[in-house]
Amino acid sequence: EIKLAKRVGTLTPSTTLAITAKAKEMKAQGIDVIGLGAGEPDFNTPQHIIDAAVKSMEAGLTKYTPSGGLPALKKEVAAKLKRDQGLDYDAKEIIVTNGAKHALYTLFQVILDEGDEVIIPIPYWVSYPEQVKLAGGTPVYINGAEANDFKITPEQLREAATNRTKAVIINSPSNPTGMIYSKEELEALGKVCLELGILIVSDEIYEKLVYGGHTHVSIAELSPELKEQTIIINGVSKSHSMTGWRIGYAAGNSEIISAMTDLASHSTSNPTSNAQYATIAAYAESQEPVEAMRQAFEERLDIVHRKLVEIPGVSCIKPQGAFYLFPNVSEAAAISGCKDVDELVDKLLTEANVAVVPGSGFGAPDYIRLSYATSLDLLEAAVDRIKNYIESKR
Ligand code: PLP
Repeated sequence: EIKLAKRVGTLTPSTTLAITAKAKEMKAQGIDVIGLGAGEPDFNTPQHIIDAAVKSMEAGLTKYTPSGGLPALKKEVAAKLKRDQGLDYDAKEIIVTNGAKHALYTLFQVILDEGDEVIIPIPYWVSYPEQVKLAGGTPVYINGAEANDFKITPEQLREAATNRTKAVIINSPSNPTGMIYSKEELEALGKVCLELGILIVSDEIYEKLVYGGHTHVSIAELSPELKEQTIIINGVSKSHSMTGWRIGYAAGNSEIISAMTDLASHSTSNPTSNAQYATIAAYAESQEPVEAMRQAFEERLDIVHRKLVEIPGVSCIKPQGAFYLFPNVSEAAAISGCKDVDELVDKLLTEANVAVVPGSGFGAPDYIRLSYATSLDLLEAAVDRIKNYIESKR
C-alpha cells in the first residue's frame, strides 16, 4: 500500500478542471454539452507569435536557457512594466516562470515558513489556498461582500492580520468575480500593508481584459514604498491567448526573485525555450490582437449579462474585467427544487447539458462561475438552456 506524504493529504484537484473533464467525457459519449467552465480564451495565439516560436526552433534555439528566463525576454517584460505601469524593474527583479501559476507556487515556497499566514479574499481563485498550504502556510480568509463588489476593505484586512501574517493576495481584475479595485481602494489597502509589514501578492493576469471604461491599476504603481512591498504576478496566458505555452513572470524584491530563481534551477530548470521566444514577440510587437480580443469579450459580456439576469432566481453584478460571470443562483437552486447550488450545477450538466463551475470551489457556495470565453452563439444557447431548465422546474 502506498502511503502519500501528509503534505498532499488535503490536496484536491482543481474544481474548474474537474468540471471541464466531466463535460468532455459527456461530449465524447455524443452528448451535446456546452462548456462554460474553461478558464482560457477561445482565440488562437496570434500568428506572429507562433511564427517567432517556429523561427527559434528552426534556428536551433531549443536548449536550456537561464533558469530565471532569457535576458532578452526579461528585457521585454521590463519594457512592458514600464509601458503599462510606468515602473522600472531590473533584470534581477524579474523571473520568467512556467505560467503565472508557477510564479505564485514558487513565490509561496520561498516566502512561507510553517504556520505563516496568507490572507486570501473570498471569492478566491481555486489554486491560492492549495498553493499556500503546500508551502506550509495557513490561508486566512476574508469575505469580499457582494455589496462591496466582492472586494475586501482596509478594516477587514486590519482585523484579519496577526503577527504571523506574511502576505495578502490581491487579484484584480478578479477570477471569479471580474471586479476591479480602484486606485483609492488600493491606496487604502496598501496603507495597512505598509503599516503592518504585509507583503502584497498582486495577481494581474487579467490586466488587459477590462470593460465598460474601467481601468486596471497595479498597487505597485502607487508609491515607491508600495512597489517595494509588492510582488507583481502576470503573464501572457490570458492577454495574448497563450495558456498552453506556459509563460508567466514575477517582478519585485530582488532577494525574493533570487530565491525563486534558485528554486527554479532545481525544479523546472527553465520555462520552455521556444515559448520564451514566442513571448518576446508577444511583448515586443503589435498589441493590436490583445485589444481585438478584449473587444470581442466585451461584446459578449454585454449580451450575455443582459440575458442572464432575466433568468428567474438569478442575480449578477456586471463584471468589470476578466472573462467570467459570477451570478448568485441560490434562489434559482431553491426554485428548481435543488438542496443547494452544487446540486443545481450537477442538474444543469446532466439535464440541461451546460457545464458551469460551482462557486463552492471559490469559497462562495451561493454562486456559479460562467466563462464567456466561447462563441456568442454557444453562449446564448447555454443561457437559454439554463433559463428553460429553471423555468420548467418552477
Ligand atoms: N491567476 C489567476 C487569477 C488565474 O485565473 C489564472 C489562470 O486561470 C492564473 C493565475 C494562472 O495563469 P497561467 O495560465 O499563466 O499559469
